[in-house]
Parts: sequence; C-alpha cells; structure tokens
Amino acid sequence: MSVINFDFRNEVLSHNASLSYCYQCATCSGACPVALATAGKYNPRKIIELSILGLQDKLIEGVDVSVWLCSTCQTCVELCPQKVELTEIFTLIKNRSFEEGKIPEGFQLQGQSIVDNGVAIPYSKAIESRREKLGLPKVKTASVDEIKTILKETNFEKNILKVGK
Ligand code: SF4
Ligand code: SF4
Repeated sequence: MSVINFDFRNEVLSHNASLSYCYQCATCSGACPVALATAGKYNPRKIIELSILGLQDKLIEGVDVSVWLCSTCQTCVELCPQKVELTEIFTLIKNRSFEEGKIPEGFQLQGQSIVDNGVAIPYSKAIESRREKLGLPKVKTASVDEIKTILKETNFEKNILKVGK
C-alpha cells in the first residue's frame, strides 16, 4: 500500500509551485509522444497526480509510472493550460531518485558510458557505416577528456559509480 508523504509533496512544491495549478485535464497525456508510443503506460498526468498526492514510493520505486521515460520534448509544457512545468518537476523527482540510489539500470549504464566514452551510446563501426550508406555526415563529438574532467569535478562520476553498486 502506498503511503502519503507530505514532506515529499511540500519539497516538490517548494521547488516548483506550478505543481499546485494542475487540474488534471489530461491535455499533457493526450499529446505526449511517449504516452502515445506506450499506449498510455507512461502517463505524465498520472505522475503529476502522484506528486500532488505525495506518493513518493510510487514515483521513485514504481516501475509502472517511470518518470525516466520522459524525453523532455516539452510538448506537455507548451500545451498545459495551467502552465504546469512538468519537465522541471520530473527533473526534481529524478534527482531525488538518484540521491536515493534508485535509478533504472539502463540509465545507470548510460551514465557509466558517459563517464567512459563521453556519450551515452558509444559510436560503433556499424553505426558509422550505416550513416555513410544513408548519406549522413560524420557525427562531431566533443572532447572526451574535457567531458571526463567536468564529470569528475562535478562528482557525477563518483555518484554514478555509487549508484551502480
Ligand atoms: S495538462 Fe497541465 S493541468 Fe492538465 S493534467 Fe497535465 S499538468 Fe495538469
Ligand atoms: S516532455 Fe515528457 S511528458 Fe512531456 S510530452 Fe514530452 S515526453 Fe511527454
């Protein structure tokens, strides 16, 4: 059974008061491309509802409402009649999950890949030759060394390794 956590709800509200403006019209979930692609399994309206109710355990541990699936395309933010800043709220929830060491394995692996390669999905010969066949230009990448330095200085590397254990 889920437990209402008022502290969690107040924490989200103190960081982003727009949460309280939501009147559950479902415009966001009706337009969300991830909701459409997953036949409604991913549902931004539901995530906002759970946040308003303070159901922290469902948001942070519930695989069925995974906030991590949001692609941050901002469609919902642009269309919300109440100007709820959904993606900002989702970032707060993701940060909280990260602090508690509860992030999906796939995202942890991508974080580790960024530490190792400077990108979430490393380029491979197969990707390069497919791009060539499609007539696409070579992908320009930033300096891996510079990225690694930033990740080290900001403690990202230490934290992502900690979560992976
Ligand atoms: S579109 Fe805005 S007001 Fe409507 S359910 Fe989504 S967040 Fe709430
Ligand atoms: S920002 Fe996230 S929740 Fe909003 S429409 Fe895009 S994928 Fe859906």
